[in-house]
Amino acid sequence: MRHLTDDTICAISTAPGVGGIAVIRISGPQASVHVNSIYSKDVKAQDPMTLSYGQIMDGEDILDDVIVARFQGPHSFTGEDVVEISCHGSVYIQERILQLLIAQGCRAATRGEFTQRAFLHGKMDLSQAEAVADLIASESRSAHRMAIQQMKGEFSQEIVTLRTKLIEFASLIELELDFSEEDVEFADRDDFKRLIRAIIHRVDELIESFQLGNVIKKGVPVAIIGAPNSGKSTLLNALLKEQRAIVSDIAGTTRDAIEDTVNIGGVTFRFIDTAGVRETEDQIENQGIAIALDKAKHAAIVIKLLDARQELLDEEERLYNHYFDHVGWRDDERTIRVLNKIDLTEGRDGLPQDAIGISALTGEGLNSLKDKLLERIEYDGTGQRDIVVSNLRHLHALQKTSEALHTVVKGMEQGISSDLLAIDIRKALHYLGEVTGEVTTDDLLGTIFSKFCIGK
Ligand code: GDP
Repeated sequence: MRHLTDDTICAISTAPGVGGIAVIRISGPQASVHVNSIYSKDVKAQDPMTLSYGQIMDGEDILDDVIVARFQGPHSFTGEDVVEISCHGSVYIQERILQLLIAQGCRAATRGEFTQRAFLHGKMDLSQAEAVADLIASESRSAHRMAIQQMKGEFSQEIVTLRTKLIEFASLIELELDFSEEDVEFADRDDFKRLIRAIIHRVDELIESFQLGNVIKKGVPVAIIGAPNSGKSTLLNALLKEQRAIVSDIAGTTRDAIEDTVNIGGVTFRFIDTAGVRETEDQIENQGIAIALDKAKHAAIVIKLLDARQELLDEEERLYNHYFDHVGWRDDERTIRVLNKIDLTEGRDGLPQDAIGISALTGEGLNSLKDKLLERIEYDGTGQRDIVVSNLRHLHALQKTSEALHTVVKGMEQGISSDLLAIDIRKALHYLGEVTGEVTTDDLLGTIFSKFCIGK
């Protein structure tokens, strides 16, 4: 059951601190009344969706010149009456206005409470509300696009469609329960199996898309592995265009894994510079190598950096194989072979087909490497892609849906009775409903909205 609140809440909705202007948002049935008591104009008489210019009064004194926007529920973000005061961005003014409103009986909003009210008033479903937080947090073009897609409701729509199909069939099964004495089957079992399989297929696709969704949100982890002096730090620096990692001529100095992010073509990549791979008796360095390979194992993309000079190349490949045997891991489809220092060779001619030739020092070939990185995450830059799941909560709900549906299929294969079948179908419906918020608990809402900022 949804709890609608009837009090009026207020918060500073712009970023904390000093700014050119700040916006204080008030939402609830008394929004205009509370603002009226501190404003030189009559907000209640102001047309909805219009602005007025006036003064906020602190007793007899003018506190600030402001612009006041009025929205009338349900045509507002929260679905309630909303007033927004744009004041000058002094921290004193912002806080004083808030204090004056609270003195009038307004309540300070909790984290995400405006968005929560928007959800409770049916302005958006839960996954769309969560997309609002993602949108605010988005730092790259791809993360932004993903949040917009989710906010527009494409993902929700897909879940609702799957759920509706399932509900249609579930109701037939439930109908059978009413006639259980007569042993009838309204729901054709073969049709049903086909439907469930199709839904499982789609749910599993969405589950798989999480890997991409998550990396787009957090940055695609890329491990750079290579022998000492192969140019790992130089490459990282070239990509970061900043001297963050220490470049050194002494072999084996980059012992710790250093992480940094760089935006390439609208996608955030998280680069992990690691200790060099080489044969060594040095305990610390051996640990470094173990960490390097372990990081590489977990990265989405591995840049295997080799020296382009033939005499070194063969030796390095031999070394890799030696270490790969140790950790039980080999090059796989995540690996990009990069031959560095082509400025010291004949250039890019004569390089192996499957490798990219670069010079971390001069920057030659870096664009090919960047293109390859984007290609590896199948990002075409147009944004025309299928729905991507990026939220851990959605992932878990989808995984549980898939599990429940598999149980349904298994049950049908074993010919279990309709009443038992109905239980598992209801379970699947429950988990699917959790994604969009058709099924919610106060705990769930609390957890979701507590991750928002105050004022959103
Ligand atoms: P790391 O141990 O793998 O991190 O290697 P570094 O990045 O510290 O590089 C080792 C040495 O190789 C440094 O002296 C770099 O200036 C040099 N180096 C790196 N990349 C290139 C390159 O593309 N061309 C040339 N000529 N030297 C390079």
